[in-house]
Amino acid sequence: MKLRKHIAIVGAGPIGLEAALAAMAHGHRVSVFERGEAGDAVRRWGHVRMFSPFGMNVSLRGIERLKKRGHALPDPDAILTGTEFVAQYLAPLADTLGEEIVHTNAEVVAIGRCDVLKHEKKDEASRRETPFRLLLRRGGREWAEEADAVFDCTGTFSTPNHLGDGGMPAIGEAACKPLITYGVADILGRQRWIFEDRRVLVVGSGHSAATAIRDLAKLREEAVDTEIIWATRRGMMPPCRRIENDPLPIRDRLAAEVNDLAESEKIDFRRDSTVLALHQNEDGVTITLCDFASNETVTVDRIIAAVGFRPDLELARELQTRLCCATESVYNLAAALLGDSESDYLSGNSHSPETLLHPEPGYFTLGMKSYGRTPDFLIRTGREQVESVLGWMEKNDD
Ligand SMILES: Cc1cc2nc3c(=O)[nH]c(=O)nc-3n(C[C@H](O)[C@H](O)[C@H](O)COP(=O)(O)OP(=O)(O)OC[C@H]3O[C@@H](n4cnc5c(N)ncnc54)[C@H](O)[C@@H]3O)c2cc1C
Repeated sequence: MKLRKHIAIVGAGPIGLEAALAAMAHGHRVSVFERGEAGDAVRRWGHVRMFSPFGMNVSLRGIERLKKRGHALPDPDAILTGTEFVAQYLAPLADTLGEEIVHTNAEVVAIGRCDVLKHEKKDEASRRETPFRLLLRRGGREWAEEADAVFDCTGTFSTPNHLGDGGMPAIGEAACKPLITYGVADILGRQRWIFEDRRVLVVGSGHSAATAIRDLAKLREEAVDTEIIWATRRGMMPPCRRIENDPLPIRDRLAAEVNDLAESEKIDFRRDSTVLALHQNEDGVTITLCDFASNETVTVDRIIAAVGFRPDLELARELQTRLCCATESVYNLAAALLGDSESDYLSGNSHSPETLLHPEPGYFTLGMKSYGRTPDFLIRTGREQVESVLGWMEKNDD
């Protein structure tokens, strides 16, 4: 098969690695650039047990490749932790691709086009003629690479949202960062010493917040002086959204469990609470929470900011991207997600390849990043995106 294009894949998470396999199968030459190790973001939440079974998180192509090389694989119904998923699938898969293809500890700092600025040569054909240029960094060394197409699979995990009112940093948040854990905390493992017998505030109402609440409640069974305050911005009761006929029963059980906890005396649950300000003092951090019109303060030892993630928009700033102004997901995809019923997009129904197009030809945002701030992205959806974009490229000779 003739080599069609050189595709630079940014990020060796579940979607970047699957994209590499799929693009190679379509006859393309690929280079994967990963800031850390393969599956770096998944490693960071590696202590968490996944919602989706192994068989839903992997491709037939990946499975066959590993089997051919004699790897034993988990049962398709197995529910792995993130660490197990990396060890039993992502890392071996990256190894089979080799260092020639997967460049680890290679951070992509910027993506643009050679010799074309964002606002120049507006017609698509003339932009298409010039290759992409990626600025890379490893340690103190920087270099550039060129590519015919770019798949941006950088996820959102490394850019958590801020804690404060209106999605902005709260007053004093920057100064209190050492006492805040953003995203997912390993409460029962590596970070246990930070939380046991401490007063902890959890902010947020999604599944990461729910995981923190469940784990803190478990920790409290042994470390009985652990105090848990749970603040959610919305007034919704119960606080954690349950999905009707959730196809992922583990996720549903988690929601049900923490909704019960919110009503129990084990948790100081405060809804309608917005974080206005943080102030570090000798007692820990004093937080000003706004509950409708009145303000109140609580003082805690640690904060878990489980308030979601956002895409890093700086990376492709020099390209002509088109994003939804509300969710920062790929524009047409955002519209498609809006049109879907909740169960449609949670079950990972794919959208047409056109939903993934930017005005910039040859640049595709795939995986978790394509959803922007919209939660509930599943690996399976990302795999479907990869296939549909490669099919579209082939059909349109892009
Ligand atoms: C706690 C938790 C549990 C989850 N459970 C599930 C589940 O059960 N099932 C499911 O389907 N989904 C689950 N998800 C969602 C899951 O994270 C995604 O589905 C999946 O990891 C998305 O893959 P991705 O490749 O798009 O992004 P990521 O996994 O985030 O991978 C992005 C990669 O890009 C790299 N990167 C970032 N910036 C750069 C850069 N500038 N240069 C080079 N490399 C870069 C990162 O280091 C990372 O390795 C969960 C998420 C969390 C937080």
